[in-house]
Amino acid sequence: MTEQTPGTILLRGASLLGERSADVLVVDGVIAEIGSLSAEGARVVDADGLVALPGLVDLHTHLREPGREDAETVVTGSRAAAMGGFTAVLAMANTSPVTDTAEAAERVHDLGLAAGLVDVQPVGAVTKGLGGEELAELGLMARSRARVRVFSDDGRCVADPRVMRRALEYVKAFGGVVSQHSQDPDLAGPQSCCHEGELSGRLGLPGWPGVAEEVIVARDVMLARHTGSRVHVAHASTAGTVEVLRWAKSQGIAVTAEVTPHHLLLTTDLLSGYDPTYKVNPPLRPAEDVEALRAALADGTIDAVATDHAPHARHDKEHAFVDAAFGMLGLETALPVVASVMVESGLMTWADVARVMSTTPAAIAGLEGHGRGLEVGAPANIVLVDPSADLTVDRDASVSLSRNNPWHGRTFGAAVRHTLLRGRPTVLDGSLV
Ligand SMILES: [Zn+2]
Repeated sequence: MTEQTPGTILLRGASLLGERSADVLVVDGVIAEIGSLSAEGARVVDADGLVALPGLVDLHTHLREPGREDAETVVTGSRAAAMGGFTAVLAMANTSPVTDTAEAAERVHDLGLAAGLVDVQPVGAVTKGLGGEELAELGLMARSRARVRVFSDDGRCVADPRVMRRALEYVKAFGGVVSQHSQDPDLAGPQSCCHEGELSGRLGLPGWPGVAEEVIVARDVMLARHTGSRVHVAHASTAGTVEVLRWAKSQGIAVTAEVTPHHLLLTTDLLSGYDPTYKVNPPLRPAEDVEALRAALADGTIDAVATDHAPHARHDKEHAFVDAAFGMLGLETALPVVASVMVESGLMTWADVARVMSTTPAAIAGLEGHGRGLEVGAPANIVLVDPSADLTVDRDASVSLSRNNPWHGRTFGAAVRHTLLRGRPTVLDGSLV
């Protein structure tokens, strides 16, 4: 471990989960005391007016290392995560080479430790080389130093139901979970690049329908029931998916789901200008779907928010719409977007935000030490949010290596001010330490 001893820090006057105001004393990386406290010998961080939440946990981050270090590295992605208030991220397996062995998983894990800004937990591939046929070394990855618990071929769907069934049976043995990129490859053709609907027809863009997602979600919840294993739906994007999830949960099936900030706010109408910034997989959907996703997140049908942070170099994104890469940045802006869509609208409280952006994702991923309440004895993974900020997003101010930011020029009413990883500030006053 390269971490320095964090010493003693007093967070003065924070609003814990937006509910009650208190001072928080952090000693040697752990919350030591909460109350009305004096600060002798402590470094004082003024948290007056700031909302304190447990450090955010992202179930779905693309860090691009190894293989595409021109788009992002573990270091630059960790910086973006810390700036966004995250203290742990799950790094997706679709790097080059793919994270499909214990050695590859340990390498990503070690790069995260060396960067030292967030805990980087590798996601293991479900199948070798994301090929969709032969299972990857799931058990070896689980038993490795990286302690992999989440497996995903994200970017691709595990389309073969026999392979998905075997993966679910396998991960059950060690409490793992399969995170599925739900998209039937036959219903979503190889050229598809946006939501299939009236607009895609008018624009002349090949679209894929919501049902391409929904049939896989429906299939997978049945496979989860059959195997008694856990399935996680990555980036849910349609009202139909919400209906399937609601039914599956009513049956007690072990399914969880995430939604991205961009699917909570942006709609397919943005594609009318053919701007590849808004090309994302799954695609932006119509307003009815966005409404259903918000309601599902508020009522717990969707369990978590995950960024699907997908950095791309300019030369991969600046193409005609059909040829541009899929994906958008998300780590630095997730909290402001969720605050705007869910909290300012009254759909959720800050305590709910803590649940969907920290506690539940940490539980889904089996990450001990993250997602704990702000309580004495818990590791001091904490984010402090200014709930009355006036933040205009500037893509050129990003600490990510990439610039494919869909929020450029938008103004949000909340901003991350400070982030602490085990008591050590990684971000203070909105800047990396
Ligand atoms: Zn995906």
